[in-house]
Amino acid sequence: MTLPSNYTRIAVKVGSNVLTRQDGTLDITRMSALVDQIAQLRSAGIEVILISSGAVACGRSELRNMPLGTLDTVDQRQLFSAVGQAKLMNRYYELFREYGIHVGQVLTLKESFSTERHYQNQRNCMSVMLENGVLPIVNENDTVSITELMFTDNDELSGLIATMMNVQALFLLSNVDGIYDGPPEAEGAEIIRRVEAGRSLDAYIQTSKSAFGRGGMQTKCSIARKVADEGIAVWIANGKREGILTSLVFNPESARFTCFEPVKIKD
Ligand code: GLU
Repeated sequence: MTLPSNYTRIAVKVGSNVLTRQDGTLDITRMSALVDQIAQLRSAGIEVILISSGAVACGRSELRNMPLGTLDTVDQRQLFSAVGQAKLMNRYYELFREYGIHVGQVLTLKESFSTERHYQNQRNCMSVMLENGVLPIVNENDTVSITELMFTDNDELSGLIATMMNVQALFLLSNVDGIYDGPPEAEGAEIIRRVEAGRSLDAYIQTSKSAFGRGGMQTKCSIARKVADEGIAVWIANGKREGILTSLVFNPESARFTCFEPVKIKD
């Protein structure tokens, strides 16, 4: 397995629960800390693709004082994501600008991964961005995605992006430190640090979901397994912990995480 400090291209997925406070507003301090770490990784020569949730949560809090009582869930998602995605990107733009880093927005749909032309087109777009030093910030286009054809969550989306862009590692940052070998609140429960190829974690996984995101631990693990089977290391860690990304890359032993080790791909 490539040492994290030798990575040259990675994908980082940040969940809604990392980026939003309990009341659903954007946690700018947290965003700023993550941007700071991504800037450090880029300075070390690592290309980064950011997959960021938070649009729906951000739009919801932005419009919280409006009377939206008659809207069904689809209307709400469309409205909130339209408003929230703009706000989210605006924040990223401002924060990355401090480091002289250009960012670009990539909004995608599940269908775009199943049509060869769209797939190639998408890959080309992101390759051109990376070649020109522009940091891609990816999210699902929730304004026009159709409920039955949506990604399960951004973990699924980030897995597809990781494979498409041939990264060495995918970092899934949520509000948990990793996968525990028992209920996390139980005494003596420990984080499983390494998951070797082929090992199943089904027995350990909690089915509860996070407050603002769509995903849960179960999807996270099955995505992690699939992506690791493609030869990409998957790190699950807590995006709210200080310096988590830089620790994972430069000094992993100091951090809490679960790492799905990549299956060796024969050339
Ligand atoms: N695309 C959704 C958003 O930006 C998040 C999906 C998820 O929870 O993973 O709000």
